[in-house]
Amino acid sequence: AKEAGRNGFAVFAEWMNDSAEQQFRLLADLRSAIGTDQLFLHYQPKLSVARHTVAGAEALIRWKHPEQGLIPPDRFIRLAERSGIINEIGRWALNEACRQLRQWHDAGHDNWTMSVNLSPIQFSAPQLLNEVRDVLARHRIEPRRLILEITESTVMRDTETSLRLLQALARLGVGISIDDFGTGYSSLLYLKRLPASEIKIDHAFVRELENSSEDVVIVSAIVALGHALDMDIVAEGVETAGQRAYLERLGCDYLQGYLLGHPVDPVRFKQLHDLPRPR
Ligand code: C2E
Ligand code: CA
Ligand code: CA
Ligand code: CA
Repeated sequence: AKEAGRNGFAVFAEWMNDSAEQQFRLLADLRSAIGTDQLFLHYQPKLSVARHTVAGAEALIRWKHPEQGLIPPDRFIRLAERSGIINEIGRWALNEACRQLRQWHDAGHDNWTMSVNLSPIQFSAPQLLNEVRDVLARHRIEPRRLILEITESTVMRDTETSLRLLQALARLGVGISIDDFGTGYSSLLYLKRLPASEIKIDHAFVRELENSSEDVVIVSAIVALGHALDMDIVAEGVETAGQRAYLERLGCDYLQGYLLGHPVDPVRFKQLHDLPRPR
């Protein structure tokens, strides 16, 4: 982080702050972390506005490096993508999240959903469809309980191939969520063709909501657009009660953010969100 902006370029992501040598070492460490308990998942609740309860969780990867401690995904996902080991990590994360969901379903939360982030790289591997099918079967998960989060750039990479894969996944019955919506450069034409079931409104539009009439207009336009296309709307990065009030009034279906719950380990998740259900 000390070498940020050394070449006069703006710093776009944390991984860019690491020197080539640091990245090389980090990658070697990451390779050996796969399959150990250094890599694990935290879960952040997704709240249903209509039901006032937790609808499910998003799985977020964590790496506890033996010397450096907790390393955030923003520092190692890109590295894993450029080296290709994201496929292995992603496969592990998908399986682990579904294994956890099965446990929660068995414990009575059989309507909870699990959202898993997919890298665009995983998306260009043709075996993804089979992997998703296998993991659902292995853990006896109904397809509609699994939601795959993709970013707009996923579809931009190789439009026809990605679209076909997405359509096959949608036919399988899993949910498809467009993450970080509004920050990429995809056009509304792509949105029209995407078999997505959900849009996640990026933090960036939520942050200033209370003081920015522009952001209010943008969020309400996204909600209208999404609903017209029969998609659910999730707002992420909800940190204040004021933001929550706006987002609920503007018609968002689900909310995520520190106000409603931080990402936590699965035991803590169940403790925090295992509320007695109304009968
Ligand atoms: P994302 O998918 O957009 O995830 C949301 C990020 O915002 C998470 O950061 C989450 O901890 C954080 N967050 C949640 N609520 C709030 C809030 O109220 N305020 C703020 N400021 N932040 C909030 P995290 O866990 O560090 O993950 C960063 C990114 O790393 C994710 O962004 C996602 O793109 C990527 N990522 C995480 N896990 C995986 C994974 O298993 N596979 C892949 N391919 N990418 C992952
Ligand atoms: Ca996400
Ligand atoms: Ca996001
Ligand atoms: Ca993000």
